[in-house]
Amino acid sequence: MKRIFLFLLAFCSMALAAERADKRPNVLVIVADDLGYNDLGFQGCKDIPTPRLDALAKGGIICTDGYVSHPFCSPSRAGLLTGRYQQRFGHERNPNYWPDDEKSGLPTDQILLPQVLKDAGYVTGGIGKWHEGAHPKFHPNLRGFTDWYGFIGGGHRYYPEIKGNGEYNIPLQRNHENVDEKEYLTDAFSREGAAFIDKYKAQPWFLYLAYNAVHTPMDTMPQYVERVKNIEDEKRRKYAAMTIAMDDGIGRVLDALKASGQEENTLVFFFSDNGGPLNEVKCDNAPLRAGKGSMYEGGSRVPFVVSWPGKLQAGKYDEPISSLDVYATACALADTKMPQDRPMDSVNVLPYLQHQVKGGPHTTLFWRVENGAQYAVRSGDWKLVKTKDAKQLFNLKNDIREKNDLAAQHPEILQRLDDQYTEWNKGNIPPIFAPLGAKREGKTDDKSKIEKALE
Ligand code: CA
Repeated sequence: MKRIFLFLLAFCSMALAAERADKRPNVLVIVADDLGYNDLGFQGCKDIPTPRLDALAKGGIICTDGYVSHPFCSPSRAGLLTGRYQQRFGHERNPNYWPDDEKSGLPTDQILLPQVLKDAGYVTGGIGKWHEGAHPKFHPNLRGFTDWYGFIGGGHRYYPEIKGNGEYNIPLQRNHENVDEKEYLTDAFSREGAAFIDKYKAQPWFLYLAYNAVHTPMDTMPQYVERVKNIEDEKRRKYAAMTIAMDDGIGRVLDALKASGQEENTLVFFFSDNGGPLNEVKCDNAPLRAGKGSMYEGGSRVPFVVSWPGKLQAGKYDEPISSLDVYATACALADTKMPQDRPMDSVNVLPYLQHQVKGGPHTTLFWRVENGAQYAVRSGDWKLVKTKDAKQLFNLKNDIREKNDLAAQHPEILQRLDDQYTEWNKGNIPPIFAPLGAKREGKTDDKSKIEKALE
């Protein structure tokens, strides 16, 4: 009986999908927060079971040299959402949670991907962490998202019933309305993701599912801790429990995709917004050097999967690709154009992943923090790292760990990459808003008072 029911359910789902008049593919972008490079099974992790992400990776393409455009949260997401190096518009810092400050956020003259897709007739969902400005003018619903569920700040407690003051305790919102969420936050975002996919199966959609897992605070649930109780180190055990909650949740979202007959009409991206933070939690970026915030590979090379059953052949791809590329790829699928009035840094990666075009989408990738106090350039296998003290040169092909500085042996290559940086940097501007933790003259920095004032 159960089999017949499931068959009928699958049949109805397929019939519904077939009836969809607009056949343009859906785009699902799943972003993890502060996930270590080596903390998923398909990346080589041994102690944290992540079967759902492993299955996604096995059926899709693992991009071994997948990067984000910044080694920490908000600028990385600004690059992803605009398809542009975020230094072009001065978004180089994490904004303070200042709901009354009109500067601290993703500038409103930037055209976000959901806006372009919405204009092209897509339903555009955003779920999870925003972190692109707390002032009401930066709200996701005003930036192209038709459906929003999540929190506006840079992080959040995972137990919504525990209320306190400040950014990590603000109410969640469905669009502009505060809601009283009851679930563990990772589970809640997975629930919302699955519901969105089911709700909009009759039309093309874009969903940005931005978990705050596995960012601090390290809030866990007993049912997840139980499954990793063999991990002795308490910090690692908590991190693992949060990771498997996300893996379960992504499985739930992918199940909804399959059950609603949309699996073969949906391109899925999965990556972390930056490398694992080695100082705060017990994550693992092996074999990469350093972690979140760094110009070394551990800062911005991340677990990166692109999946589209039937359209992309499973395997590995080892040319550098970037989270910046989501924008152009999604626009191509939606049969619409990227903004034409400004330089874009995003490349449609499908022809590359389908092996129709040889080589990679980027000959060079760049990173910059604090107005160039530190920067990095990857050109082919060569990588220049400008730290506060020195300029170093590595060959990633032989030295993924960035241990062997070749600057003295190859000064001409160092100079070439440095010149490329200088040229690229001409298109950038200094940071336009205050650094995290800055004090404001004549303003209160008591976040609870700010929130109260805005109630
Ligand atoms: Ca992050």
